[in-house]
Amino acid sequence: MQGDATNAMQEGLRRSSRKKVLVTAQIQPTRKRQKRVVLKLAYENDHEISTAQPSKEEEIVLLKMDESESGPNNVLVPSTSPMMPVRWKEVLDGIRKMRASGDAPVDSMGCEKAGSFLPPKERRFAVLVSALLSSQTKDEVTHGAVQRLQDQGILSIEEIARATELSISQIIYPVGFYTRKASYLKKVVTLCQEKHEGDIPNTLKGLLDLPGIGPKMAHLVMNVAWENVQGICVDTHVHRISNRLGWVGLSKSSGVMQRTKTPEQTRLSLESWLPPEEWAAINPLLVGFGQTICTPLRPRCGECLLNTFCPAAFKEAESPAKPSPKK
Ligand code: SF4
Repeated sequence: MQGDATNAMQEGLRRSSRKKVLVTAQIQPTRKRQKRVVLKLAYENDHEISTAQPSKEEEIVLLKMDESESGPNNVLVPSTSPMMPVRWKEVLDGIRKMRASGDAPVDSMGCEKAGSFLPPKERRFAVLVSALLSSQTKDEVTHGAVQRLQDQGILSIEEIARATELSISQIIYPVGFYTRKASYLKKVVTLCQEKHEGDIPNTLKGLLDLPGIGPKMAHLVMNVAWENVQGICVDTHVHRISNRLGWVGLSKSSGVMQRTKTPEQTRLSLESWLPPEEWAAINPLLVGFGQTICTPLRPRCGECLLNTFCPAAFKEAESPAKPSPKK
């Protein structure tokens, strides 16, 4: 008996030093027609779920949420609470293993690779141009357009300022919306010359003020061109895969996670729990995973190392096993 007590105490001490993660907060009716909140908690890196009572203050906040957003008996995860998925490190390790070959298009032709042999200032501009051209365009096509600009000696702020909009659009064709993007490029270089001393902006706000650059690209350019990580670059792959894995969203009813609707919601949700040291790496990691295995249509769940615990596994029709489209 004494041995059991000692073991239990040691286990308690071991657990108390580990971080607990909120899984759900469930509103339950009581006999007196009142409500009470039951929290379900998990220890990080553990599969075990335990229940606990919230503090009085937490209970008041949760009950208010319940009244304002839903009916009784709902399961909520307050947006202010960390929503760290219990097995996220295991999942990330699995994705890293599947991406170890580094043979996805993003690995050789993503914005991260743009102008990699150019001097720092020209490289920063190349990253910005690559980001601007990449929307609605495959990596291969964007890469080809940036390469042609470089080969023709106009991949710099000064030369784009001298070039005509028509000639730029002809060089970057068949990038999606190439005429509009040529026009954006001309405006971008004017702003760089007038407001940023002939360099690209070095702040998120400065980048967001450029035409054709939204939050997704601004974060990518800050991460890659300035190596100043301010947030996660969430593109369509990161948005889709984060939702498939149940990494983002709010638990609203029946304990089922509701998907985030926009990349911005996904970014905020991911940033609420993913450690900042992972923010720069997560984009190329998930983009390549989305290009090769967790594809938009018919993901290759049969080949995926995560298929035993991914909530979306085998829920969409799978791609033919072989050959892989990129190989
Ligand atoms: S199991 Fe399927 S849906 Fe889930 S991450 Fe893997 S490929 Fe994507």
